[in-house]
Amino acid sequence: MAQYDYDLFTIGAGSGGVRASRMSASFGAKVAVAEERYLGGTCVNVGCIPKKLLVYASHFSEDFSDAAGYGWTVGERSVDWRKLIANKDREISRLNGVYRNILSDNGVEIIEGHAEIVDPHTVTVDGNRHTAKYILVAVGSWPVVPKIPGAEHAITSNEAFHLDSLPEKVIIVGGGYIGVEFAGILHGLGAHTTQLYRGELFLRGFDDDIRQTLAEEMRKRGIDLRFNRDIKRIDKAGDILRATLDDGQTIETDRILYATGRVPLTGNLGLDRAGVQLKENGAVVVDEYSKSSVDNIYAIGDCTDRMMLTPVAIAEGMAVANTLFNNKPTRPGYLNVPTAVFSTPNCGTVGLTEREARQRNFQVDIYRSSFRPLKHTLTGRDERTMMKLVVDGATDRVLGCHMVGPDAGEITQGLAVALNCGATKAQFDATIGIHPTAAEEFVTMRAKVT
Ligand code: NDP
Repeated sequence: MAQYDYDLFTIGAGSGGVRASRMSASFGAKVAVAEERYLGGTCVNVGCIPKKLLVYASHFSEDFSDAAGYGWTVGERSVDWRKLIANKDREISRLNGVYRNILSDNGVEIIEGHAEIVDPHTVTVDGNRHTAKYILVAVGSWPVVPKIPGAEHAITSNEAFHLDSLPEKVIIVGGGYIGVEFAGILHGLGAHTTQLYRGELFLRGFDDDIRQTLAEEMRKRGIDLRFNRDIKRIDKAGDILRATLDDGQTIETDRILYATGRVPLTGNLGLDRAGVQLKENGAVVVDEYSKSSVDNIYAIGDCTDRMMLTPVAIAEGMAVANTLFNNKPTRPGYLNVPTAVFSTPNCGTVGLTEREARQRNFQVDIYRSSFRPLKHTLTGRDERTMMKLVVDGATDRVLGCHMVGPDAGEITQGLAVALNCGATKAQFDATIGIHPTAAEEFVTMRAKVT
């Protein structure tokens, strides 16, 4: 008789947990996955996918205006928020089903309910005990709202996806991915949008040219961006929320959306009981193979707070499956991880920022281009696209690529391949462009700006 019920027991059926579970099963392991909320996790239910659908929805307002320059007459327009949310929810339900099938088709048992670790080889789900050789913690993260007076009146991205109506006025707090993405979405759909960020310039950690260009583009569109500003308290009077800012000003609004980061969702899991070491913010401490301080307990994705990105969680899940059940000990790579912010317009980035390259004492050469996209020569829209290459002058290697403009995410993906191959600026220059595209600018920047 087998010593354990399962070879692998995964807690959390998000992007990382599902990938690790199904790959492990395909390598011959007997696998169960416990999920207490929704199949597909944050990405599918209240993250990447519904967000991108709302981003598409929000872009139509610009497209309708831009159409006039191309000879189109567009009639009266309005957005039906409830219909948009209902259609989005239908697609999410379909995806939940796809995830269910992926797991069951690969022979993974799905156990619905809250899992707790009793000891390093035992998990309970709603009172039922299951034993496993390995346990994988893939429980994700959850938005946090700072504890200010009236914080209970604020919402997070979790609720923003299910609002009954589109707010007429909204304040967004936070200058990270979620803040700038929702500012573009809600403004594009017609809400009067104010975004507050506590520091000098939002998107800390991104290249400064991305940060500045995006701020300019958002302001041109009419988003009320306020930096060095925060909310001190929130008061509610009927349906109206009054935000008192740290400079004493008050703003009345319908909704206040906090996008001030996410924390690992590792409470109530019994991790401490099993002896799993956690960081102060609750993140599971793991080694390069995603192994925790307990030999047979692994952790991947947001709950380890390495890089909170879906494709990274998937890579970590894949690596765990290979390590444990495919005889291929694998460390996921974190070099040149490309990322996009689906703001309006988009940002795309891979590799080092100019600031990071200088801090690491590279002999930095910068190539930068800023231009009006061809499309807008007829629409008259005052929009600029910015592209930038950070190059090591000593070796000619391209260290970083940064862009603000339409389809920046799509364009950056291919550049990430080039950077992973160690491409030089001369190789970028020797590559023939595709004309006329914005992307060709990355292979035609000839003059160093610094
Ligand atoms: P981020 O960590 O990206 O940004 C949080 C923002 O809130 C920062 O501007 C931060 O300021 C600010 N902030 C933090 N604490 C406070 C506070 N107490 N008061 C006021 N402001 C505060 O978190 P998000 O919530 O935007 O997103 C969470 C994670 O999800 C991201 O890190 C990202 O990895 C992932 N994500 C990825 C997406 C993508 O790939 N397109 C899309 C959405 C999310 P400061 O900079 O000063 O610390």
